[in-house]
Amino acid sequence: MATSPEDSHPFAILPIPNKGYGCIANRPISPGEVIYQEATIMHIAIPAQRLTETHITTAFAALPDAQKKSVLSLHEGTHRTDLHSKVMRIFKANTFGNGSACWLHPTISRFNHSCVPNATTHNDPCCLGDEAQIVAEREIAEGEEICFSYNNEMYEITTARQRRALLQKQYGFECDCRACGGGEEGRARDARRVLIKALRARLHGLRTSDFGILDDGGGEENELAELDLWVKEVQVKEALPAGKRAAYNVLLGNLREAEGMPATDVAVDYWHAAEAMLDQLMQMQDVVVLQWAKNVQLYMEKAIDVMERVRSPYDHESQTLRSAWKAMQSRPCLKVALAYLDGALEAKGHELMSVDDEEPFAIQITKSGELQVLYKNECDKLFEARDDISVASQEDEPSPDGILRSIRTKMSTEKLRSHIASHGVYKLIGAALTCAAPVAAYWMMR
Ligand SMILES: [Zn+2]
Ligand SMILES: [Zn+2]
Repeated sequence: MATSPEDSHPFAILPIPNKGYGCIANRPISPGEVIYQEATIMHIAIPAQRLTETHITTAFAALPDAQKKSVLSLHEGTHRTDLHSKVMRIFKANTFGNGSACWLHPTISRFNHSCVPNATTHNDPCCLGDEAQIVAEREIAEGEEICFSYNNEMYEITTARQRRALLQKQYGFECDCRACGGGEEGRARDARRVLIKALRARLHGLRTSDFGILDDGGGEENELAELDLWVKEVQVKEALPAGKRAAYNVLLGNLREAEGMPATDVAVDYWHAAEAMLDQLMQMQDVVVLQWAKNVQLYMEKAIDVMERVRSPYDHESQTLRSAWKAMQSRPCLKVALAYLDGALEAKGHELMSVDDEEPFAIQITKSGELQVLYKNECDKLFEARDDISVASQEDEPSPDGILRSIRTKMSTEKLRSHIASHGVYKLIGAALTCAAPVAAYWMMR
């Protein structure tokens, strides 16, 4: 029998073949729409020792009868034969947490998992207190099942075979989402997730040592052992230069967007890219490279745009981004560059240098406080002494989109290698290739 939490909600809880129950949209839903909101129950602070059965049964006993009933109607995750009490099994199979506490959301728990979810949970205490929401990530058609990812941080960096082992162990089900379905799409998604893992590691000062993770062979035990790679990765001694940090964050945001990961994560990637780009801009003191200033603006506008697909402009997360952008724009170097690009400020040009109609490369603030246009060849000597900064022009740089296209299309290994070779190493965006190339090449060879 179909049940609906309340008639006004855009979904009904219906039986689904081989999946028990699931939440099916009963009308089209738009991105950013709040599908359901509910309070936390059984909120338990995780004690210094471990969480025991007593903590959980005590919290359960304190619930009003109606809430007890809704908890007891949740899925038990029956595979956990080591857990003897029903309340324990239900709690383990449905718990939400953040490391310092765990809790239940009886209705949100009824949404099934997908590794390519069309909805996400929003449980930012600044916006919602102890309530949580399910928010649509994209258009959801009437009749489509609404799903969120039970642990996106883990599943966005694991291959389908690894996730199968993990989901079986933790929840006792087999995922039937598009990313777990194998075939051409499954392989492309595995490759992207391995790249996401490599980039996340590098941005945390780690280096993924083994890209053989896409290799075949090995049973379930090996799959889980491979996951330890994440912790065993080697610490990289030197910090990432700002330009590389920007490039890696752009590529990470790009990969996450292509993979259908939460918009809030993608927005933060672009925000971090903008911050890194601004760091690089400020390292040049009185010379302001115009393309870098444009990039800061481009990345921040993208970040805000992506965030506001799923959050209102008044939401805490949107506001954080908007005020970060405001603070960036008040930095003198960026302020001057953007005003110049807007035509609001004039600079003295080098007419003789611009015979080829070359665009100004940078502006310099002279000692007398005037703005002076600089062309590329004038800047080269400024950068010569600095191998941490790349001044390659935009046309030399493979874009993240280009890299992704290379990975997605059936580019031969030879072609890919020459593509990588011709772009050299450690250029601005090209820097990301040094990370992406081994995986892409490995995948192409299969
Ligand atoms: Zn899946
Ligand atoms: Zn929020």
